[in-house]
Amino acid sequence: MAISRVELAELTGLTQPSISNIVRDLIADGIIHEVGSADSVLGRRRKLIAISPANRFGVGFNLGPDTVTCVAIDLTGGVVGREVVPRLPDEIWRADRLAERFDAFTDGLALPRDRIEGLAIVMPAPGPGGADRPQPGGGQTQPGQAQPGQAPGAAGPGLSQGAGLGLPQAAAGLGLSQAAAGLGLSQAAAGLGDDSAEVRTELEKRLGVSVLVENDAAAAALGEFWSRRVSREQAFGCIYLSTGIGAGFVFGGALYRGASFGAGELGHVSIDYAGRSCPCGNLGCVEQYASMRAIVLAAREHPGLRSRLPLDGSESSAYDAVARAAVNGDQDAYQVLDQAAERLSAAATSMVNLLDLGRLVLTGPGVARAGSIFARRLRGHLERTAHSRRRHGVTVELSAQPRDAAGIGAAALVVQASVAPGHTPGQTA
Ligand SMILES: [Zn+2]
Repeated sequence: MAISRVELAELTGLTQPSISNIVRDLIADGIIHEVGSADSVLGRRRKLIAISPANRFGVGFNLGPDTVTCVAIDLTGGVVGREVVPRLPDEIWRADRLAERFDAFTDGLALPRDRIEGLAIVMPAPGPGGADRPQPGGGQTQPGQAQPGQAPGAAGPGLSQGAGLGLPQAAAGLGLSQAAAGLGLSQAAAGLGDDSAEVRTELEKRLGVSVLVENDAAAAALGEFWSRRVSREQAFGCIYLSTGIGAGFVFGGALYRGASFGAGELGHVSIDYAGRSCPCGNLGCVEQYASMRAIVLAAREHPGLRSRLPLDGSESSAYDAVARAAVNGDQDAYQVLDQAAERLSAAATSMVNLLDLGRLVLTGPGVARAGSIFARRLRGHLERTAHSRRRHGVTVELSAQPRDAAGIGAAALVVQASVAPGHTPGQTA
């Protein structure tokens, strides 16, 4: 998409001379270039400018339950590389391991280091007491809840519009490192060991690029927002179904982060005040019924499913076996998933009602094979019960890349923080 200097001035409210100066600097930096001209209403030719996609890149790593998904995107959000490597369940990836992976991935893609804007690492939100992830059925670990100090939630419009709004800051020299300054991640984060702030500092030193840490659901929301080119006016939400359940929100083009960068703990919305106990201290949290982990537990307790499906491997492989059976006509497997979907729908409806959402995307590895079961339940539930149903519909969509959404979102976070740091509502030191 191309835009003229006049349009940029109108969009940003900056004066024409300011825009001209900024555009000149950005052209000199190779971030944008002139692509031709268009007739203006007064008959004068106006030069159009556009982003140079291959000039800068963002890299995202998603530390999933048993894989690390690596994604690189260009300035327009186009995926230029993707690689998935195995990770042992709950295996901690420290700085040296992450640095090796970063080098291997970017070397493989032949991305010049000086054109990489940074690395964002995403993973499930940490529990209130530490790095552990929630465990349905009252396991010993902690649930994912808000912790202060999370990395910046950069969000904004699709880049073609966002660039226009973000250019002034970018031109003013607020690159990613400045945007991310003061965003020390003080809490332990699942997958990075006890001190992810240390990991981050060490990584920045070794790689020479800025490093952000974010939770997977928030990153996925930003990734879906970008790739779908959702309008800024829309109240946009995303449900991330994985070993836990998270949600992310983009309001007015910016990621909504809450008081301590921990918004979106959909998994800990209670659907039964006398229900299953959750390590978070509450009863009946939906994560205890509808997360991948809870679904695998339910399938393993079902004698029929236990005998005919391969459920003894990793949680992910067991979950995939259940999901595959469900879509291939196994009624018991379908029942297990459909019941989970119904419970998730109850919690999701409360979320939609609280926030008056207009558009919702289901994503994450949990909807990669049998997402239609979840989408159907959720649509039906919202049509019958959403508070806003007579004022506006709530669009429910399935992610086109559920396994990659968090990784793509992570890379988008980097590019966004770089190109439009004004949209990065991070803490300022
Ligand atoms: Zn809970």
